[in-house]
Amino acid sequence: MRAWGDRVDEAQIEGALIKALGSGVVAESDRAVVFHDMCLLRDRLQHLQSEFPPRTLHAVAIKANPIVAILRALVEQGAGLEAASLEETALALAAGCPPERIVFDSPAKTVAELHEALRLGFVLNVDNFAELARIDEILATSSTASLIGLRVNPMVGAGSIGITSVADGGSKFGVRIDIERDAIFEAFARYDWLRGLHMHVGSQGCDLDLFVRAASVIEDLYTEITRRFGAERVAFVDIGGGLPVEYTAADKPPSLTEFLAAMSAAVPSLFDGKVRLITEFGRAVHSGCGFAASRVEYVKGFADHELAVIHLGADMFMRPVYLPEQWKHRFLVCDCHGRIKRGARKRYTIGGPLCFAGDLVARDLELPAIEPGDFVVVRDVGAYTVSMWSRHCSRGLPKVVGFDADRDNALQVLLRPETPADVVQFWGGAEL
Ligand SMILES: *Cc1c(COP(=O)(O)O)cnc(C)c1O
Repeated sequence: MRAWGDRVDEAQIEGALIKALGSGVVAESDRAVVFHDMCLLRDRLQHLQSEFPPRTLHAVAIKANPIVAILRALVEQGAGLEAASLEETALALAAGCPPERIVFDSPAKTVAELHEALRLGFVLNVDNFAELARIDEILATSSTASLIGLRVNPMVGAGSIGITSVADGGSKFGVRIDIERDAIFEAFARYDWLRGLHMHVGSQGCDLDLFVRAASVIEDLYTEITRRFGAERVAFVDIGGGLPVEYTAADKPPSLTEFLAAMSAAVPSLFDGKVRLITEFGRAVHSGCGFAASRVEYVKGFADHELAVIHLGADMFMRPVYLPEQWKHRFLVCDCHGRIKRGARKRYTIGGPLCFAGDLVARDLELPAIEPGDFVVVRDVGAYTVSMWSRHCSRGLPKVVGFDADRDNALQVLLRPETPADVVQFWGGAEL
């Protein structure tokens, strides 16, 4: 099994690309392809399963990567799935996930969605007091197998990336511990079906200290609820996702072992195996498993260096394109057969294919000489890339290919590429 922090390495990237090109799995017509290492994915999950207390449910965040074949691989190994929308619960069911392992976290659940979730028996994390009242009304005339928890904003402050931080006063999620603590106890007194506590501090940019302080807030609530309402009252504590990963050498994420050591020391009563834990990691499970390879279409002059025009831009790399200071990837250059180029370096900006000036995937990098027909490889694209695909300029989603070291590096198409006809259909036109 590979180590927790391992990412697909250069030799594996080269091996998968050469094989995909040689075998025709990547065709001449594929302008870009995304690869996902299924073996590394299973290793990541296995680390979570062996290092957390045994009964923990690892509900992997679907929004990080919703490809059904990838979700199915996780579910087959015992994972649950965290759904941000009713549509994502449908993806979870399509992947074969048992309803009691689906954690439904949408902050905007409609009455109809609540009915459906309670009927099917998903785990529900409730965002606010009005949602609790809606559920109470539904449960007055029906029963459910669902476990239901309340999302608490622990108010421990933001991480280094504002738009993915959700544990400060600017967050739209959950009920605030600082001004609604008493109301939380009142809710547990009023609703005997309320059995869980949920937190999520943010995604990338959150350091260990933020997790530990947030978990301490939840532990304090857990202790007080147990004291007031009995030892069995809290059936689960959901600590959310947000474990950061390494994109560039400047990132220094904690290892899983460090994370668990810090948490068990700070909040022992949540990690002693008595209360069932739920996790909702997305980025940390998927990110390092994926890489993208795009053919280089043109190389031309740009400012005082050169621009390499590739086939993935803001449609797949929304965050790096719009917030280049906060989101960065590492790059490799491969020749037309997939072999990594290692010669003298020159300066390049990597331009996407979309028709707006800001569509630059990375600016002013040092890379080996790039020629049209080469591949530019973008690393660590397993999370929040394909899943954030944008329709701007209406280009089709690329092919996604899985490879598996445990199965002789067999290649499997996980997602077929969208054709122009698919896109016409998406925008309401008849089939071509
Ligand atoms: C986005 C999200 C996650 C996953 O976050 P990662 O950074 O991918 O681990 C988990 N839980 C909730 C509630 C989320 O919104």
